[in-house]
Amino acid sequence: MDTGQGLLEGLDPEQRAAVVAPRGPVCVLAGAGTGKTRTITRRIAYLAHRGHVAPSQVLAVTFTARAAGEMRTRLRALGVHGVQARTFHAAALRQLRYFWPRVVDDEQWQLVEHKLRVVGQAAHRVGAPTNAEALRDLAGEIEWAKASLVTPDDYPAVTAKVHRETPLPAEQVVQVYATYEQLKNRARTLDFDDLLLHTAAALEEHTDVATEFRDRYRCFVVDEYQDVTPLQQRVLDAWLGNRDDLTVVGDANQTIYTFAGASPRWLLDFPRRFPEATVVRLERDYRSTPQVVELANKVIGAAHGRPAGSRLKLVGQRPGGAEPEFAEHDDEPAEAAAVAARIKDLLGAGVPASEIAVLFRVNAQSEVYEQALSDLGIPYQVRGGERFFVRPEVRQAMQALRAAAGTPPEGTLAEQVRTVLAPLGLSTERPPGGAMRERWESLHALVELAEELASTLEDMDLPRFGHELDIRAEAQHPPTVEGVTLASLHAAKGLEWDVVFLVGLVDGTLPIQHADGDDEAVEEERRLLYVGVTRAREHLFLSWALSRSPGGRRHRRRSRFLYHLIPDNHPAALPTRRQRDGALLSKNSLRNQAKRQCRVCGGPLVGTMAVKLGRCDHCPSNVDEELLLRLKEWRSERARQLKVPAYVV
Ligand code: ATP
Ligand code: MG
Repeated sequence: MDTGQGLLEGLDPEQRAAVVAPRGPVCVLAGAGTGKTRTITRRIAYLAHRGHVAPSQVLAVTFTARAAGEMRTRLRALGVHGVQARTFHAAALRQLRYFWPRVVDDEQWQLVEHKLRVVGQAAHRVGAPTNAEALRDLAGEIEWAKASLVTPDDYPAVTAKVHRETPLPAEQVVQVYATYEQLKNRARTLDFDDLLLHTAAALEEHTDVATEFRDRYRCFVVDEYQDVTPLQQRVLDAWLGNRDDLTVVGDANQTIYTFAGASPRWLLDFPRRFPEATVVRLERDYRSTPQVVELANKVIGAAHGRPAGSRLKLVGQRPGGAEPEFAEHDDEPAEAAAVAARIKDLLGAGVPASEIAVLFRVNAQSEVYEQALSDLGIPYQVRGGERFFVRPEVRQAMQALRAAAGTPPEGTLAEQVRTVLAPLGLSTERPPGGAMRERWESLHALVELAEELASTLEDMDLPRFGHELDIRAEAQHPPTVEGVTLASLHAAKGLEWDVVFLVGLVDGTLPIQHADGDDEAVEEERRLLYVGVTRAREHLFLSWALSRSPGGRRHRRRSRFLYHLIPDNHPAALPTRRQRDGALLSKNSLRNQAKRQCRVCGGPLVGTMAVKLGRCDHCPSNVDEELLLRLKEWRSERARQLKVPAYVV
């Protein structure tokens, strides 16, 4: 009899303890790349193999459609079929579809297609600003409120209590929020947060629904639990009822969605909530080279106010590799061109494009990289597969394919699909960038999928292809696109590549400008860098540019997080050349120069205010304590060498 012992191979003792723990609460608190996702996948497979639970009774939730797809693939490879591995939203959508007629009247409800448009209508009605930026802020704020279980009525009091900076005066946000809800309800549409709200309500208020659901799903698993929102936690609690068969894994140091309402408190509180829980800590990092691991430890080691339970140090397990590389460029196009050239070399050396990622803080940074990669003819994909099947172009494509299913077949399936999708924006030439480019990428992904399916399944024709898309849409299983990945740091969570480029590392972008002055927001930015660094298996490149465009004013500074990461022998390292040259000057000029040197970057101070503050006006005020400490040490060392009092150095 298969006892599932094979499933314990390739696991370390701690991972194994989590895998074989009896059904009940299990919590894995561990750093990036320590095998959390591997452990929960094996745990599900192990429990299924041992007959402790039927795969169809397991509900595993992850945070991205791509991660859910990967988990399903891994489980299938382990011989386990039928586990529901989904995002919270996809799981809720599926359940609502089933229970909906029982919880509301039998009306047809739809997902909101153009959410920003509805927010715009609401803003317009109440006289709030309706420019694109204001609407994005408002939409984000409404999402935060709903994810945090804050109703329009509660909004002013809650935001005042937590000192939240609101995009508009709280009363005005309330008006937009309430009107948005009304408009949506009147149109019989739901947004993504409504899916979760209604799911929780259905289980909380309808005993028959709860009983049927709890009979169907008995074992729950949550990956990336550090980023659960109060709304998702409410859904999870509703799923569980008074049961405790819950395995959670997470890394508080990778909490990167607090701006959207997420909080690591449920992860860190898990052992208190379930005192009988099996708690496992993993420290061995299997993903990255020791060099990358060391850098990751430095990034997170400098974090302030880390809660107990998140103070884990990663220990590299892999053989040594290359040192992470740092590069400073004059301007962004030069940075992008250098990255593209490096990627071309890597491709030439045999690294597959799918093993390379360029990660950035905000999506707007993507364009210059798209251009640089296009210039060198390097294939790339802009986004992960997030919400692929709800993109308007994909919905239109599926409709068009359905309508064309009756037409007589031409040549190959891919050609047929291409013909049908051409009027939707699938030109023969790949558009250079922007929205047209994204649209093209989505449609092209469908053609590639058609090619792939036609090559593996003999009887694949247009109607069957349409059916396959329906199944994939239901399972939120987006097609994968070959090419270098361009993604935001947020979208890269949980994923890994052999080669990772972290680009645009300047103050104002990472940390993002609006985090300035808010210590907690700056810490979240630092965690984003940690997430970025820990995506790399073999090679890590970190770069930044001093101005946006060629010939522009070089007014940017490298990210404040980099100061203590750049090796001392690097040209961009501290102390600056100016400071080193200081050793050649007389004591008097040294004394005067010291007064006119920025205590952060060592550059010249211009203006009385700058001299008074002791730092350039563009240097960050809240520099890392470690940096200041290092500067202090460097100063006293230099003073000893020069035999002058420390204050003159
Ligand atoms: P993240 O915090 O980024 O989500 P994680 O803790 O979920 O990371 P995994 O993705 O599960 O980590 O594993 C990281 C890498 O290490 C994967 O490539 C995985 O296959 C490998 N790995 C995990 N455990 C082991 C092990 N015991 N032996 C060898 N390789 C392992
Ligand atoms: Mg993981």
